Amino acid sequence: MQNLFPSFSSMPSFKNDQIKQQYERWILYSNLIQIRFICTLTAILYIVSAYIDTYFAPSDILTLKLVTHLFLLPAILFFIALLTFKVKYYKILLYILTIAPIFAAIATLIILSKLNNPSIYIPEIYLILFWIFTVSGLPLLYATISAVTTFTLVIITTCFIFNYPAEVLTMHCFWMIAAFSFGFLGAYLLEKSNKSVFLTHIKLEEAAVTDKLTGLYNRGKLDEFLYDAFQNSSDSFALILIDIDDFKYVNDNYGHLTGDKILEKLSALLKVDLLPTDKIIRWGGEEFMIISHHTTYEKISKQAEELCQKVQAFDFDIKKNVTISIGFTLSIKEDMIDSIIRRADTALYIAKNSGKNCIKFLEN
Ligand code: GH3
Ligand code: MG
Ligand code: MG
Repeated sequence: MQNLFPSFSSMPSFKNDQIKQQYERWILYSNLIQIRFICTLTAILYIVSAYIDTYFAPSDILTLKLVTHLFLLPAILFFIALLTFKVKYYKILLYILTIAPIFAAIATLIILSKLNNPSIYIPEIYLILFWIFTVSGLPLLYATISAVTTFTLVIITTCFIFNYPAEVLTMHCFWMIAAFSFGFLGAYLLEKSNKSVFLTHIKLEEAAVTDKLTGLYNRGKLDEFLYDAFQNSSDSFALILIDIDDFKYVNDNYGHLTGDKILEKLSALLKVDLLPTDKIIRWGGEEFMIISHHTTYEKISKQAEELCQKVQAFDFDIKKNVTISIGFTLSIKEDMIDSIIRRADTALYIAKNSGKNCIKFLEN
């Protein structure tokens, strides 16, 4: 429960690259929509500001203002908004979006260089810093690069090139730092919150498909595994059902807790010889399912035989020998999820009826 309370602690990290990539994919789609919306809105606001300028801007800067605020910046922003419709342009889009605010700040600096009184136009620079961090949709790293470059350029230009009175310069630097720090804090907290939401989502999803006792996947993952197996396997794959023999007897005579321990130990044994591409789930109470790729009847028969022997020889800390029965099949072209499971189940049924502690294969 404690984890639910917000804290200022460090940024959540990803335990492996796969989760990091999943996060990046997840955030990409929400970023694209945000970027599309915000760039369009900003372009429209620039056009409105250019229109207002026609009333107020001094004549010597009006042309420059119109060129940048009516044409160039809206054009760049609309272009970025267009790029959001194609995911493959995301990287290019990020680069342009990182550079665009720097360009906008430079345009404003050029305009300011022509004015003695910066008060009307200088707020745009503070807004640019804030915009980069909080609404642009740039990931924190890109936003920081863009904002640090803008900040440095503006501070150098205003402090060393422009001749502002001391009080104007002091307040200007203060507002720059305030805009940067509020913006950075906002962006940091947003990224942290996004990562936490994503990691919580992953944890819940994992918990929903994980069997608590054995740590194996549960039936919730079955359809996905089999769907992937049908999609990705050019050759046939094997579906193997494993069932502990006379497990009810074990429970009745040694207790349910001992039964649980046996399930845990057997799960660990089953995992030992799996290939990285093999998938294992707890199919039911004392039944397990393995989906094995790149395999043949001979290979599976041999592995299953070895597994039966290994289980029989394993010391489960009870007097009775624990044995398993195995039914397996190989996928065929006409198979659907239901048909291949039914075949493996029938093979297991035959194994049970053939005296248990044995392996049966059903071809079709
Ligand atoms: P067979 O050789 O035909 O498979 O007989 P069996 O006794 O193994 O099969 P049966 O279907 O009659 O009984 C399965 C037993 O597995 C009954 C159930 O109580 C037990 N079981 C199911 N899930 C769990 C579990 O999580 N823990 C424990 N301890 N027992 C379980
Ligand atoms: Mg059973
Ligand atoms: Mg059984």
